[in-house]
Amino acid sequence: MSTSPNLSVSAIPAFNDNYIWCLTVADGRAAVVDPGDPAPVLDALQAQSLTLDTIMITHHHGDHTGGLVALKEATGCRVVGPDNSAIKGIDTVLSDGDSIDILGLSFSVLEVPGHTLDHIAYWGHGALFCGDTLFAGGCGRVFEGTFPMMRASLAKLRALPSDTAVYCAHEYTLANLRFAQAADPENTDLAKRVVHCQRLREQDIPTVPSRLVDELQTNPFLRWDDSAVIAQLAQHNRVTGSQPDDVFAGLRTWKDNF
Ligand SMILES: [Zn+2]
Repeated sequence: MSTSPNLSVSAIPAFNDNYIWCLTVADGRAAVVDPGDPAPVLDALQAQSLTLDTIMITHHHGDHTGGLVALKEATGCRVVGPDNSAIKGIDTVLSDGDSIDILGLSFSVLEVPGHTLDHIAYWGHGALFCGDTLFAGGCGRVFEGTFPMMRASLAKLRALPSDTAVYCAHEYTLANLRFAQAADPENTDLAKRVVHCQRLREQDIPTVPSRLVDELQTNPFLRWDDSAVIAQLAQHNRVTGSQPDDVFAGLRTWKDNF
């Protein structure tokens, strides 16, 4: 899939439902995002005669970092990622507002804590690589941060241009949309998205990347200020009032037990 004239992005499936995103440019260099497993990455590089230039890490979880050391040893590539000494092998530590050159293209770094405290995202050239923060139809579990912290991170992503392609790290979309329909049952855009994504999965086609505009219309975790979502939460005794952090916390705890 092409996101800009200079950049192509394709999925390398890993484990049960992870996507390792592979960025390539015309000269045959590649970058990969969150290589949890080295083997499928090495296979893809060989099959397409690509040279691994850069590994981009979003956060410390093993299914995102497990292939880092092996790939670095095998290829001599550079590794960029968040400020977390627990991730071994990072050459360039990134923080909020940094610009990083990937394959000759400039990407912006956003700190998006919540799922983990170290989580960062990469945005540029119409593409967002957001790891386990924003999913198609959902968002990551809040393991290390707080609900207000996670909502603030999602608010940063919500503010990006609406034509941004959202490259999350997992194929969780159908399960996320099942919950979304419970939280936002009258949403006709959501109903259409469910049918569309079911068709894709029946053909074993990824539902990712999604478009940010579709997330804004159908993902309840970006709709904490939507009156229908707020009313549905109140009806299920998940929240009283419409304070955004309370609404988000009500949504996330409901989904955790859905
Ligand atoms: Zn994670």
